[in-house]
Amino acid sequence: MDSDLLLVLALLCSIFPAILLIIAYSYRCRACGSLSHGFKSDKAADFSTGDAWFVCRKCGDRQVKGKVEADGFVLWFGGGSGNFDENGVYTGDAGGAFGDGGGGDGGGGE
Ligand SMILES: [Zn+2]
Repeated sequence: MDSDLLLVLALLCSIFPAILLIIAYSYRCRACGSLSHGFKSDKAADFSTGDAWFVCRKCGDRQVKGKVEADGFVLWFGGGSGNFDENGVYTGDAGGAFGDGGGGDGGGGE
C-alpha cells in the first residue's frame, strides 16, 4: 500500500470539513452562536431604510448584512447579491454565495 497516497487522501478529507467549519464559524450567529446560521439563516429587508438582514432561525437575532435597493436588488456585504420581492420575501441569490464574487467564468481563452 502506498502510504503517501493515503496521507494525501486523508488530508483532502480533512481539509473540506475544516473549510466548512471556518465558514460556519465566521458566519455564526453572534447572539446565540448557532453555527448553522450562515447556511440556514432567513433573510429580510426593509425597503424604507435600505437595510437587508440575516435573521437567525434559532433565536431570531437580526444583523444588517447588506443593502437593498428600491427594486428589491440586494448587495450582500460579504459578497454576492440577490433579490427580494415587493413583500420583502427573499427570492434567491443572483450571484455567488459566501463571497466568491459570482459571475467570473474564468477562462476566456483565445
Ligand atoms: Zn441566533
